[in-house]
Amino acid sequence: MARARSNTDQFVLARLEASPTPMTAYELLGALRSEGVQSPPVVYRALERLEKAGRIHRLEGLNAYFACHGHHAGAAKPIFAVCTECRRVEEWSGEAADVTFREIAKSMGFSIEGRTIEVRGRCSRCAGLSAPDSRAACCGHTVRLAGQGAA
Ligand SMILES: [Zn+2]
Ligand SMILES: [Zn+2]
Ligand SMILES: [Zn+2]
Repeated sequence: MARARSNTDQFVLARLEASPTPMTAYELLGALRSEGVQSPPVVYRALERLEKAGRIHRLEGLNAYFACHGHHAGAAKPIFAVCTECRRVEEWSGEAADVTFREIAKSMGFSIEGRTIEVRGRCSRCAGLSAPDSRAACCGHTVRLAGQGAA
């Protein structure tokens, strides 16, 4: 019995959107068994499609996935900042970094085909600070958790 792929995609996306922290494919598989998703390749293919569509991102350092916060526009791939304490991921604009990388690459005669920037540290909440510019502070996943605190 073939389950429609869009169903699996929706289960995977909904699960990631509900999770405040990134999940590995293995954790997703465990969480989706009750939905009838049993096979690792099915989960991997859904993850691949969702990533290609820009709905989720993969953290190479953790080999885990999270739902895109949806607040970075433009072509530049965002910078992923992972809090080592609460494990939440922030998405920062990658535009300034891309400009810098292009300049360096040009001077080295290197043509960039892809790049990933993952930053580790403590988020403002875990450090007990408020972000210097609250408009610049990343939503974490609060936007997706019932949209509380939306201004
Ligand atoms: Zn994103
Ligand atoms: Zn944190
Ligand atoms: Zn965000």
